[in-house]
Amino acid sequence: MHTLKISQSVQDLRYSVIREMGGMAAHMDDVITLGIGEPDFDTPGTIIEKAFEDARNGHTHYTQSQGDPELLERLAQVATAGTGIRVTPSSVLVTHGGMGALTAALRTLLEQGDHVLLVEPHFPDYMAHIAFAGGIAVKVQSRFENGFIPLPEDLEKAITTKTRVLILNSPNNPTGAVIPGHILDAIADIAIRHNLFVISDEVYDTIVYDRPFESIYTRPEMADRTLVIKSFSKSHAMTGWRIGYCFGPQAMMDQMLKVVNYSTACASSIGQRAALAALDIDPSILEQMKNRFAARVDLVCARLNAMDNIQVTKPGGSFYVFADISRITRQSRQFAIQLLNSKRVVVVPGYAFGESGEGCIRIACTRNRHLLDTAMDRIQSFLDDFQ
Ligand code: PLP
Repeated sequence: MHTLKISQSVQDLRYSVIREMGGMAAHMDDVITLGIGEPDFDTPGTIIEKAFEDARNGHTHYTQSQGDPELLERLAQVATAGTGIRVTPSSVLVTHGGMGALTAALRTLLEQGDHVLLVEPHFPDYMAHIAFAGGIAVKVQSRFENGFIPLPEDLEKAITTKTRVLILNSPNNPTGAVIPGHILDAIADIAIRHNLFVISDEVYDTIVYDRPFESIYTRPEMADRTLVIKSFSKSHAMTGWRIGYCFGPQAMMDQMLKVVNYSTACASSIGQRAALAALDIDPSILEQMKNRFAARVDLVCARLNAMDNIQVTKPGGSFYVFADISRITRQSRQFAIQLLNSKRVVVVPGYAFGESGEGCIRIACTRNRHLLDTAMDRIQSFLDDFQ
């Protein structure tokens, strides 16, 4: 009999807490799911129609690994317009979602044992991608009292001789924090002084509420040391099409292309045609989605703030509300499971986003306002029983 031997690094990975919560709810009736982070809206119809038409016209083959040439051309224009820095098609790479860019970037950059700085609470998948690339995650905490904006001095203190890469995620999953310009300036200064490469994960860039989105890529001297990651998943309600893209210094993109080539060959050809169509949709459709998220986030924040012992700060972007429940309990897992079992609401326990997320829960505002209101009633009633 074969003795199965699994690599230690894979054994050490934890199953996704977000998917675990979804799994627990799968066989229950009348559940309101505020767990997984994807828009509840369907992909706009014109995108679907155009992608299918293109598929019928032969766009069903591998594309070149870098991406569909027409899409690359358009993305370079979008990146140039968005940053004010000339981005050429040769320095753009289309990937299997933003995730494909993330994992390929870390594999391209890291040597075994290199340190990667990241701000906690963070998107859980970063830990797996850093591990796949042989890196070591070094975490810096952002705090509730600072609206979960990282302090540049905290980042600087965590830098070691092995630190190569800093991952920034703004707007942030799970906290919704949007890093303001003056903090980006200070972080850019640190990156330059310590010769760090920055991966700027901007997959929620279109969902910002109070101030325009700003990228560290646009800071002086940063375009040479930053990879920007974008995605159609959240902005265009296209999670299932699996199309993201990235751009950065040409020398980096040339090497990263090999990783993408050997790991995925190319992103889905039909998905890429859908992305091309997405670039042409009426901008008011995106604006409408954003406004609906904004109204939902407002509703959830107002309802939670009115509850005893729960604290929230309004997110600057994304569709997440990260609520502090530590005055009630620090056991976020137990809280989330009991809430699901007794009131049929799925939220994600904060520890999923790193240790300092413990004592919090993440609520994805990806249901309509009526359902969100009902979910808030249920949480209120759960708290009445809990105390
Ligand atoms: N980055 C962040 C911060 C995310 O929250 C997600 C998805 O939830 C991703 C990247 C990956 O998204 P996708 O691969 O669908 O583009």
